[in-house]
Amino acid sequence: MSEYWNSRVCSITPYIPGEQPRDKTLIKLNTNENPYPPSPAVFEALQKIDINRLRLYPDPECTDLRNAIASIYGVRREEVFAGNGSDEILAFAFGAFFETPPCFQSGSVKGAENNKTAHTVMFPDITYSFYPVYAALWSLPYREIPLSANWHIKKRDYFEPSGGVIIANPNAPTGIAMQPEDILEIAAAQKHHNAVVIVDEAYSAFADASIVPFLSGGGHNNILSVHTFSKSYSLAGLRAGYAIGSANLIAALERIRDSFNSYTVDMLAQTAARAAVLDRDYFSMTCEKVIATRERISSRLNILGFEVLRSSANFIFIKHPLLSGADFFMRLRENGVLTRRFNKPRIQDFLRVTIGTDNDMDIFLELCSRSLNK
Ligand code: PMP
Repeated sequence: MSEYWNSRVCSITPYIPGEQPRDKTLIKLNTNENPYPPSPAVFEALQKIDINRLRLYPDPECTDLRNAIASIYGVRREEVFAGNGSDEILAFAFGAFFETPPCFQSGSVKGAENNKTAHTVMFPDITYSFYPVYAALWSLPYREIPLSANWHIKKRDYFEPSGGVIIANPNAPTGIAMQPEDILEIAAAQKHHNAVVIVDEAYSAFADASIVPFLSGGGHNNILSVHTFSKSYSLAGLRAGYAIGSANLIAALERIRDSFNSYTVDMLAQTAARAAVLDRDYFSMTCEKVIATRERISSRLNILGFEVLRSSANFIFIKHPLLSGADFFMRLRENGVLTRRFNKPRIQDFLRVTIGTDNDMDIFLELCSRSLNK
């Protein structure tokens, strides 16, 4: 706290990113990075860059990258936005589509008289923990809707009047996916309130459910699908993401970006991300490898008596009746395996474990059974 901080800085509670340890010997299963290297096409494209061109600003429109993404999905370039990681796009989207009511101090809205305000943004109580942070930054009221007892998002909860909805699909940290058809129903209900539904598809490449194929034809013009290069494209260090939606939604994101920083995606990132997205074979191969490892490890953990939520992502969310989350986390860490734990009601005994290489996961499994035999 400082006398120079304004009230906004004083009131926000920033997101805490997963640890990036300097100790490179740790097996890092804590931030859902991909254990495989980026496509060889990325190496090639970066090698070909004329370093002299770094004198110049990058293309603010990210034209080549957006064209490449548009060609993969069969949409128009005007329906694609490129950003500096999907976190940035989500931050812009909160600013572009959700409304701050006059004289509102941001925060969670509770209580009968307030809980159906037309301005209130809705998202699950257990989801990506950046959402309440963006809401606070933009001074938005929000409502956290409890997941069901079996950790599912109940679509009917999101039919109510709102100022907008954001859903991670698959959800994080549960890994559980919703059917795209259920999201379409939410979007149809929200359309009556002129509200946008943001679908954060950071992990959709590891599921068989993306909303994007349903977006063409313009029928669902209040849905924005947000993606990242950090997970399925093995480019977390690059900072690149994209969104797909109607040209009107994309134009709104551009208006926010150009009121902030027109050049958020640098030249190296545009080049590397374009090469990655065009290498479909490599993308499919690495996603399939991660999925196969996820399935193998999930069933082994089941045999050891773990509760493993049905994951459609590149991580699993697990707990064991004989282990407290805090102890289990520490025991793994002391033995060189870093996972992620969220100290929140209902999930404090779970660990979120990123799917690593088969070798990493075998070491992890061995530690799990040792933890149980102690
Ligand atoms: N959405 C979800 C659900 C995530 O887990 C993450 C990763 N922390 C992101 C978005 C952000 O990804 P990035 O900014 O690396 O694109």
